[in-house]
This record gives sequence, structure tokens and C-alpha cells, in this order.
Amino acid sequence: MEQSHPLVAIIVLGIGLAFLFGTIANRLRITPLVGYILAGVAVGPFTPGFVADPALAQQLAEIGVILLMFGVGLHFSLRDLLALWALVVPGALIQIAVSTLLGMGVATLIGWSFGSALAFGLSLSISSTVVLTRALEARHLVDSERGHIAVGWLIVQDMLMVIALVLMPPLALALQLMGEQAEGTFDYAELSTIFGYTLFWFAAFIALMLIAGKRFIPQGLHYIVHTGSRELFRLAVLTIALVVAFAASELFGVSLALGAFFAGMILAESPLSQRAAEESLPLRDAFAVLFFVSIGMLFDPGVILRDPLALAATVAVIFLANGGVTFFVVRLYGYSLGTAITVGVGLAQIGEFSFVLVGLSITLDLLDERARDLVLGASLITIFANPALYALAERIRRRSAPPAPLVEPLEEPLMESPEEGLVPSTMEGHAVLVGYGRVGRLVGERLLEQGWPLLVIEDAADVVEQLREKEIAVISGNAAEDPVLSAANLAHAKVLIVAIPNGFEAGQIVEQARAANPELEIIARAHFDAEIDHLMEHGATRVIIGEREITRAILEYLPEREPPTEEFPSVGEEEQSETPSP
Ligand code: AMP
Repeated sequence: MEQSHPLVAIIVLGIGLAFLFGTIANRLRITPLVGYILAGVAVGPFTPGFVADPALAQQLAEIGVILLMFGVGLHFSLRDLLALWALVVPGALIQIAVSTLLGMGVATLIGWSFGSALAFGLSLSISSTVVLTRALEARHLVDSERGHIAVGWLIVQDMLMVIALVLMPPLALALQLMGEQAEGTFDYAELSTIFGYTLFWFAAFIALMLIAGKRFIPQGLHYIVHTGSRELFRLAVLTIALVVAFAASELFGVSLALGAFFAGMILAESPLSQRAAEESLPLRDAFAVLFFVSIGMLFDPGVILRDPLALAATVAVIFLANGGVTFFVVRLYGYSLGTAITVGVGLAQIGEFSFVLVGLSITLDLLDERARDLVLGASLITIFANPALYALAERIRRRSAPPAPLVEPLEEPLMESPEEGLVPSTMEGHAVLVGYGRVGRLVGERLLEQGWPLLVIEDAADVVEQLREKEIAVISGNAAEDPVLSAANLAHAKVLIVAIPNGFEAGQIVEQARAANPELEIIARAHFDAEIDHLMEHGATRVIIGEREITRAILEYLPEREPPTEEFPSVGEEEQSETPSP
């Protein structure tokens, strides 16, 4: 079908269908990502009906990658990155080497040449930035140690990928020459010059960002804040993310994703980083959805029937090498089982970079369409499987965790993060407080003063740390997730206070809590009138609207207005009496 507005069509249909399928997936209790990808399959060329322009979809997806990586950079300081260097550089190098070798093994079995096998293997070794960052965000892990390791790993993969993309053409030529003549006449000096150039431009970009960018970008943003215009601030944040990423790729040959990451990172230490992250959020989510739609569009479901064995082998390489090897390396460095699992599972998938590498290899005659189908199919399967893998890993770990100790809250109240295996609370008649921020902190202090046995559920690692120092019982994790909330022993609790700002998550928490205990007193926090109904319907006993309480307090502080007296007529009256009536 021809359309006159291909860009509009893809945005409208991509987002609309992703919404529809995502909602259905959500209803079936599957991750909405599956819905987004299926929306892509529906508008792709391999299914009947409307066919959207895949090239346009991919460019839109690139914007999603930029905004996502910018957001990740905002949570990352240079110090964090340097602290992890000793693990992520050798770790990622080992993983890439093993993934590539295993991929080459599969390709050799299929009967491809050395060059093709190398390109195929490399394309299997790089995980998808979008999938990983989305997974970390959904689990509130971007700011945690394991989140930092996973992202650091990704950065190293990304850097190597840039080098691989630059080296691919001369390498293809070299292989071709070697194939034609027994003795290769290829100029290896040229290869090292290209390698040197790439590294030079890379270093130049980073130096520029650290010296000039670090100074001027936050300054510019501060200036805009003082204009008082929210719209301009939003635009400024977007400009920084997009322009730095674009300039990095066009001028320095660095990938868009890495450019955006560094743009975010130099803002990370600025007090404005939190606001910058919030302002870019809605746009980022919309474009990230288009990323998944664009992957779905490229996928030809026929490959599952045509090439099942090769596809299974490709998927196995990704799970074993990208996931398994990463897991072992992280564990080898002494990190906990939970950290190793999160990083391993997070990286056990492939996406955008693999497509770029395969695309380039096809133009260089190193790979053919069959390889593209295999990589796309494996990508889709591994992305589909990712949330299930997280759930499985979680279950395995919990099973391998020592039996839950039944502890008194003050002796050992400090439960490990959910990734370490949740220890169900044995408290009874207690108060459960979700969120220990501006509101929760004050409520918690009062509850403790009144002698309540208090159990907090909080997902920000630093807050959890503070609570542990104060010896306040805390479950670390997202209370909207069933296992986390279940560990609070709500069935025997007296009251639940949901003190988080997000009405959607609060609704989920209230619903689960009500199901667990019909007698529980549930007090929830809200900001909008519409949220009252939502929360009450889900079982809240009482909903407190922040804005109404503010209004009430303001009205309480309002000074009494002196009633007008006879002796001192008001100005209006004076004027009136002075003006002679006509
Ligand atoms: P504030 O908006 O300042 O009251 O902070 C809210 C607090 O709740 C922050 O410390 C968040 O980390 C925490 N929080 C938000 N959502 C959740 C959630 N779903 N589960 C647990 N803690 C949460």
C-alpha cells in the first residue's frame, strides 16, 4: 500500500499498535515488549496488509537509543565508570572473544568461510543497549552496583563495536586478497593506521567532553533554568542529548549511543541531572517503543521453519556466551550471585548493534541474507526470552538461598536486596511503609516514636543503605513486584502506608495488599483527584491528596481578615461618598 506520509504513518501505526498489543500482553501478564515487537511484525513486510518503511522505523529507533543512553549516562558518574574499569574491560573482552569464537563455530558448521564466520561471530557478541537499559529501569537497577557493572560492560562492547565497524571494510578486503592469492599482499600497516585513527578520534571526543563539555554544558543548562521557562529547559536537555550524540557520530566516528551516554554522564554530577532525566522521560519512552517495533518489522517468521537448527544454535551461543560467560566472569571477580545473574541475564540478548554489523557485512559480501535472518531471529527470541530469564534466575536463586531465617527485626532486620533472595518478614501487627522519601521519612519517624514495629519497602539503594545504618527493618526492592510485597507479611500487618508519588504503582501495590489481607488498613498517597477513585477501587481505606493537604495548610495559616468598621469606611466607600452623585 502506498502512503503519502510514510513518517506519520509509521509513528501513528507503530505507537498505536504497540499500545494495543502492549496492553493485551500486559493483560496476559507478559511483558509489553512482546506486544511492541509483535506490532512491528504486523506492520512489517513479512505479514500481509500495511507495510511501513523499515528504514524510517530504524532512524526513529536511533532516537530512542540516544535518549535511553543519555538517561543511563545521567545516572553514571565518571568515578563509577573508572571504579569498574578493572572488571568490565577484561570481562567484556573475554566475553566478546568467547561469543565470537562460538559463533564462528556455528558458522563453520553451517559451512561458511572464515571471514563470514568472523563477521557472524562478532555480531552475536554485542548486546542490545535498549533491551538492557529497559530491563534495568523496569527493575529500578540503573543506580545499583549491578546496574553499573552491566552498563559499564555495555560501554566496552560499544567501544569495541565502533572499532569493529571501522575495521570491517579493510578486513574484508584483506580476506578477499588472501583468498585470491596464496600470499596476502595486504598492507597490514594500513590496518593499524585505521585502528590508530579510530582510537585517536575516540580519545579526542572523550577529551573534548571532559574538558569543554563538562564545563560549558552544565553552565548552559543552569542559565536556562534561570530563565524560568520549563519548555526551554526541556528543549535544552533534548538539544544536549541529540546534538552531542549526533556530533559524536558525524565528527568523531563514535556511535550515537556512546555519544549520548557521555552527554548524560557529564551532566550526572550537576544538581540538575534529576530534572533533566525527568524531562526527557516521556519522549524517551515513546521512541524506545519504536525501537522494538522496528525490530519486529525486520523479522521474517519463516526462518523458524526454514532454518530451525541453525537458529537454535545461534540462540544457544547468545545464552551461553553472552549470558553464561559474563555470569562466570563477574562471579570470578568475587561479586555476589545476584549481581552475576543480573548482569549475565541482562546481557544474554542481542539487538541493534548486531543488525548494523550484519548489514555492513552483507554489503561487504561477507554475509548473506540467511545470516541476517538468523541474527534477527535470534535477536527476537533472546529479547522475548529476557524477562522470562530474569524470572527464572530469580526463582533459582531463591531456591539456592539459605532457608529463611526467622529473625527479630532489630537483631537482623536488614534483608538483602530482592536480587539476593528475599527473606520473608516474621513481624506481626506491624506497619508497612512503602517509600522512604520526603513523605515516607516523616511518617516513618512518627511511627517509630509511637513504638510501632516498622517495616519499610524502598527501592533506592542509597536510602536502603541509610535505613540499614539506622537499624530500621527494610526490604529492598520495588513494592509493585509481587515477591517483594509478599515478603512484608501483609497478612499479619496492621497498616500499610503507600507513600510513593506514582499513582499507577500505588494502585498495583494496594490491589495486591488488599488481596493478601482484607482487614488491612491501607493509607495511600496521591496527587490527582482521578487517583483517588483508582486507589479506592483497588482497596485503599483512605487516600491522601498532597495538593489538598497543602491547600488546607495554606488556608489554616491565612490571617483573619478585619471586618470593615463604621468609623473607618473603606476606600471604595470614601470615594463613593466624596463623588457627588449626578
Ligand atoms: P518522595 O517522592 O520524595 O516521597 O520519594 C518516594 C520514595 O519512594 C523514594 O525514596 C523512592 O525510591 C521510593 N519508591 C518509589 N517507588 C517505589 C516502589 N515502587 N517501591 C519501593 N519504593 C519506591
